[in-house]
Order: sequence, then structure tokens, then C-alpha cells
Amino acid sequence: MSKSHYIIPIFVPHFGCPHDCVFCNQRRITGLSTDVTQNYVKSTIEEYLSSFPKRDIIVEVAFYGGSFTGIPMEIQEELLSIPFEYKNKGIINGIRLSTRPDYINEDILDLLKKYKVDTIELGVQSLCDDVLYNSGRGHNSNQVYVASKLIKEYNFNLGLQMMIGLLGDTREKSIYTAKEFVKLKPYCVRIYPTLVIKDTYLEKLYYRKLYKPLSLGEAIDISTDLVMLFEYNDINVIRVGLQPTENINFGKDVIAGPFHPSFRQLVESNKYRIILRDFLDMSEWDYAGKDLTISINQKNISNLVGQKSSNIEYLKDRYKFGNIKVYSKDIPKDIIQLSIGDSFFEINMKCLIEKYVKQL
Ligand code: SF4
Repeated sequence: MSKSHYIIPIFVPHFGCPHDCVFCNQRRITGLSTDVTQNYVKSTIEEYLSSFPKRDIIVEVAFYGGSFTGIPMEIQEELLSIPFEYKNKGIINGIRLSTRPDYINEDILDLLKKYKVDTIELGVQSLCDDVLYNSGRGHNSNQVYVASKLIKEYNFNLGLQMMIGLLGDTREKSIYTAKEFVKLKPYCVRIYPTLVIKDTYLEKLYYRKLYKPLSLGEAIDISTDLVMLFEYNDINVIRVGLQPTENINFGKDVIAGPFHPSFRQLVESNKYRIILRDFLDMSEWDYAGKDLTISINQKNISNLVGQKSSNIEYLKDRYKFGNIKVYSKDIPKDIIQLSIGDSFFEINMKCLIEKYVKQL
């Protein structure tokens, strides 16, 4: 039986980060404004552990937010010493943290090795220097390549985070960034559409009409391209879209932008829509009035159907099918079977994804 993965998140808000990226109000994103202490780390770990099942789980402590390795070394040591103890006792299995590319050097990596950190995620956001500059990131793309190489040389798992829809960004620039990520061979990636958050510089630009966020549809389309590109290259996409929290929601701190609480599901559904469309468009057939039956692994049914049956409606509208029925079937997850009238087809999703990704 495969083990379930549990994360103990510890937010380190703006602690150690002297930067002011135009999209970021770190205190608001983490929803926390207290300084992090050893006691806080310990009590957070204990609290989460008490709510987890007692067996067959993998537990990771994750320092999120801020720029962990920008904190003075002695404080990094203090904070890391707590999960280090738990890891040595076999109570937790892994330690991960996120930081900036320009806060990586040999001294820092030596320290992280000493405290048995497994995964280092870099907030890269873009590999286009103009986009980095517009975002006030304070680092350039070259620093990302240097840091990524060093992290891999030290045998840490490398995680890369990118944003889409930044100031001056385009779909082409996002695809370029994703292709460069692929070359860096990360262990995992995250994709975040840019949101206009209260009390950020981007908010001011937005009100002055100097920044236009992506629409939800645009963000879904770009994210789908990126997800397909990463999956085709066997890179694990561990998050798409910002997690809704008490503050990250419309009517709270999200002023504008492509926010949706189920953003990832919208992207996954769009992936199925593209695959079905590209398959059906390959033939000159007239589908009008024919009945369509789709069989798919149970795990993928809701993504194929889409929220409020949006993909079924799309197929009906585009191809004028008669009835459309979807059944779960014990077949591999990357296979879709179609019966159209009296004809039967089997779609190998990997082949369709390969074809799609190659034209990006
Ligand atoms: S480096 Fe990170 S924490 Fe600091 S301002 Fe930029 S996004 Fe926020």
C-alpha cells in the first residue's frame, strides 16, 4: 500500500526578506504576522502530528513564505534544529524550504545539509530578465541557473516556482520559462497565476490602469500548456494556483486577477478538453447526431467531465453529438476509450500530449 503524504507547513513571514516584489505582501499571503520562534516551530509540529494518522504516512516539515536562507544563519540553525530532531528520531521523514535564488551559496547549502534538509524550492517566477526587473525581484535569470546547479550538485531535491501574468509577461515568455525549467531538471514545480493583492505595489498599478491581470480563462489556458509540458517531461507539478485561505479570497485580500478556489481542477479539465478536441479534429468525420460514449479510469472522470459538465457541453456544442455518456472503466489512467456510433477508438493520452507539447 502506498503511503499518504502529509505536510506540516511553517510560515516564515517576510522574516529575512528585504525585498519588495510588486505582487507580494508576504504578511498577507501567509496570514500571519508573528515572528517565528523555536517554540512556535515545535508546537506547530506537535499540533499537526496529533491530527495525522499514526501509521503508513510520510511527513514533511515545510518552511514556506519569506526567504528562509536570507534569515541570519544562527536563526536558520535554531529553526532547523527542531525538525532535525524529529527527523533523527524517525518521527518525520523530510524537511523542505523555499527561498530566493540569490540566497543560495556554499555556506548556506553546507548548513542545510548539516540539518538534513531534503528539498529546496526556489521562487524563480520568470526566467525573462525584463519580467524579473518589472516585478522588482532584485535578482536576474543567471542567478537562477547558478543556484539551481549548486543545489543539484549538493544532491538536494530542486523545486522551482514560477508565476504567470506578471507585469510585462506573455504566454510566450511563460512557455520559455517552463522550457528552461525542464532543462534544469527539477524534482517538482509550482505554477502561480499573479493576483492583485491588497497593499501591494501591483494594486496601485492596477488602480492606475498600468497593470492588467490575466482573465481566469487566459490563466487556465497558459497553466494548461505548462502542466502538459511539465508532465510530458516527467516533472511533478505539485501546485497550480494559490491556495485559498481566510485572506486569499475575493472580498478579502484578492483585489483582482484569476483567482479560483479549484484552479487546478479547471486546468486539469481543460487538459482533457484539449486532448478530446485534438483527437476528434484529426478526422474529417461529421459527428453531428451521433451518440458518444466515453470510458475512462474512475480517478479521471470528474476532470474529464469538467465543472458543471463544462466539457460535455463543449463537445455537444462543437461537434453536435447526440447523447454523450461517460462511464468509469478499469483501464490505465492515460487511456480514454470512445465509441462514436458503431466505431470504437482508444486514445493514448501520452501521444496526444506529446503532439500538443511539441507545437508549443
Ligand atoms: S522575495 Fe519573496 S517574500 Fe520577499 S518580497 Fe519577494 S515574493 Fe515576497
